[in-house]
Amino acid sequence: MDARTAAVLRERWDALPPGVKTREQLLGRHAVGCEGTHGVFPKCNLTCSPCYHSRDANKVRVDGSHTVEQVHAQMAFLAERRGPRAHAQLIGGEVTLLSPDDHAAALLAMRSHGREPMSMTHGDFDYTYLRDLVHDQAGRVRLPRVSFAAHFDSLMRGRRGISRPRSEAELTAYRAAFVAMFHRLRQETGVRAYLAHNMTVTPANLSQVAGVVSSVARQGYQMMSFQPAAFVGDERRWGEDYAEVGIDDVWAEIERGFGQAISWQALQFGDRRCNRTAFGFLVGERWHALVEADRPAETAARDAFLDHFGGVNFGGSPPLPLIVKVARLVVRHPGDVAVAARWLRSMTVRAGGMGVLSRAAMRRQIRPLTIVVHRFMDAQDVAPAWDLLTRGIVATDPELRATQERLQACTYTMGHPVTGELVPACAQHSVLDRGENEQLRRLLPLTVLPTSS
Ligand code: SF4
Repeated sequence: MDARTAAVLRERWDALPPGVKTREQLLGRHAVGCEGTHGVFPKCNLTCSPCYHSRDANKVRVDGSHTVEQVHAQMAFLAERRGPRAHAQLIGGEVTLLSPDDHAAALLAMRSHGREPMSMTHGDFDYTYLRDLVHDQAGRVRLPRVSFAAHFDSLMRGRRGISRPRSEAELTAYRAAFVAMFHRLRQETGVRAYLAHNMTVTPANLSQVAGVVSSVARQGYQMMSFQPAAFVGDERRWGEDYAEVGIDDVWAEIERGFGQAISWQALQFGDRRCNRTAFGFLVGERWHALVEADRPAETAARDAFLDHFGGVNFGGSPPLPLIVKVARLVVRHPGDVAVAARWLRSMTVRAGGMGVLSRAAMRRQIRPLTIVVHRFMDAQDVAPAWDLLTRGIVATDPELRATQERLQACTYTMGHPVTGELVPACAQHSVLDRGENEQLRRLLPLTVLPTSS
């Protein structure tokens, strides 16, 4: 493993609160966590309730040069502080308000700093935008692979063709059309895509999560992520008692949608109160976990993997160097071959046996699918906890302390190159966004007055 990666993993592990230092923890053992941009294009052209953006966000002009310059600065800082590789979200307002060239430049800037980017969008754009995004001015492919997280839910207003959806079901065709654009892109250009589906959950649409799960699982997304709404951002867009929706409530709906239990306990990303992630795959319509917590053969493989292969950059390495890297590690830990074989056998039996899997593979009915619930925190809880943390004070109040622990085990970090701070996304949205957008509003006003000659 890269020495810098090993050092930042160790640092991350050491800084975690004791409660999350478990065998299943991925932070500090395999990854330092995900990253995101901030203040790079705050504006959005849809209106959602709730909206995590501060009230000034839509008063900031989208400006490609500002975006690319800021993305470079933030990613360079994150690479310096958090190591050479990470997944990072190109996030702000609506990413497709950037021109295709500026959007592509921002993605390439992220890659140049070792970040694997994912563009966060409401998905309301045309195929021509996507085609122009992946090609340069000379018509050559500049992005051989892209990654998008598309946010679709009935709490959003202003989508073309369905300005005020009355139910989640009314969005099914729009969710499918989004995936279809990327299938077409693959056919016409060879560009590959990783697609995630995002949905905000409030009491208003909680009971429809099962229906969304069942349709989205068939549509070709590789990740489904649900965010119970928190009281963050523009308070004019808060209309309900969002606190009523907990991770367990959403998970119960997800399981209802699949018609089966979805196990997540074998692997944990950060704090259980923030994140629940189930890594697995579909065989036809049945979902199977990569690792089951109650199968010793499988948890032994997880432990061996995290102990010996944790931090290896599998996704971002070219095949040959990766094979060499893995071969070297296997030579150092030859017992892992048998451990891996036992895991494979256990998982194969669980998933129906070799016959079922080979038939499904021949029909191309095996697909990876990760299921996530991410429970952001309310601004009123985050603000005091973050204030104490930045002053090095451990809260004595149990609820404040719990919020601090979640912030310390945060999986989603934003970088501030000017102040040198690494900030959890909850603190960014709850505390820093407002001031940042006020400044940006002055720097990038919507109306630019013509200069007198
Ligand atoms: S952004 Fe907030 S909810 Fe998400 S992992 Fe970080 S602290 Fe937890």
